[in-house]
Amino acid sequence: MIAVQHHVPSAVVRRREREQAPEPRLGRHDMRQEAAHALSWVCQPAAGGEIPMVGEQLRNRSLTPEARRCQLHIKLGRGILSFQSKGGRAIAVGADVTKEEDVLRLFDRTEAAFGRVDILVSNSGVQKDAPVAEMTLDDWNSVIDTNLTGQFLCAREAVRRFRSRSKGARPSRSAGAIVTMSSVHEVIPWAGHVNYASAKGGVSMLTRTLAQEVAGEGIRVNAVAPGAIRTPINKDAWGTEEALAELLKLILYGRIGEPEDVARAVVWLASDDADYVTGTTLFVDGGMALYPEFRDNG
Ligand code: BGC
Repeated sequence: MIAVQHHVPSAVVRRREREQAPEPRLGRHDMRQEAAHALSWVCQPAAGGEIPMVGEQLRNRSLTPEARRCQLHIKLGRGILSFQSKGGRAIAVGADVTKEEDVLRLFDRTEAAFGRVDILVSNSGVQKDAPVAEMTLDDWNSVIDTNLTGQFLCAREAVRRFRSRSKGARPSRSAGAIVTMSSVHEVIPWAGHVNYASAKGGVSMLTRTLAQEVAGEGIRVNAVAPGAIRTPINKDAWGTEEALAELLKLILYGRIGEPEDVARAVVWLASDDADYVTGTTLFVDGGMALYPEFRDNG
């Protein structure tokens, strides 16, 4: 888990930067000190970049749990150092999002370090795939626990913290923003992944219901639904030329997604540029959810 605080420039500076920087990247364009508001984020390791490689390391069963934990810390440390070298402040907090006490500690540590929490990006997710007749209850439970209950626990705590802040101290137009991580599988059924698709369907309703409940308090809640993104979670689907060719048949836009595609969507939804947006899911999927097989058919 990482909590970061960085400086978000005023609208004017942001506009100027957009003109000068056609390829905005998470953690670079918003590091300026001038005309800045500081926003504190609680943000779980994204599905790409430095930290996500952790997922691959953790799946390497030949490592002992201690060795895996060590690698996790090294990777998190690297991610944080790289963020700090760009002028940001970040801390890493080890937390299991399925455990209430861990989630409370994550928010406590963030508030202790940065004074408050303004944005939550609940990005923890796992896959434990199996045909339904072979899926164990453990595989079902652990995916629902991390991908759905974990997002509930983090969102609940974020709402509590947003409410407890003094209103005058808001650095943004909203009283707080939550971005949940859904998937194209909130709408596309996925045989062999009933635990994952059920959890993501749940995330969709969690997002919209929560948005409805807290909009009157000025809190915005939205979801990002990635399609196939080049990360360790789905390496089987893009790791070889043949697999990639099969995958591309499902992506109308003709390329696999990159972690930055998702990061940019998350940053936008969390920012004041999306101030009038709540209760929606932003699909970042190159058209995967547009029924590609119907393009020349039906
Ligand atoms: C899953 C990936 C999959 C993608 C498209 C994502 O939510 O985590 O494994 O490639 O959906 O099917």
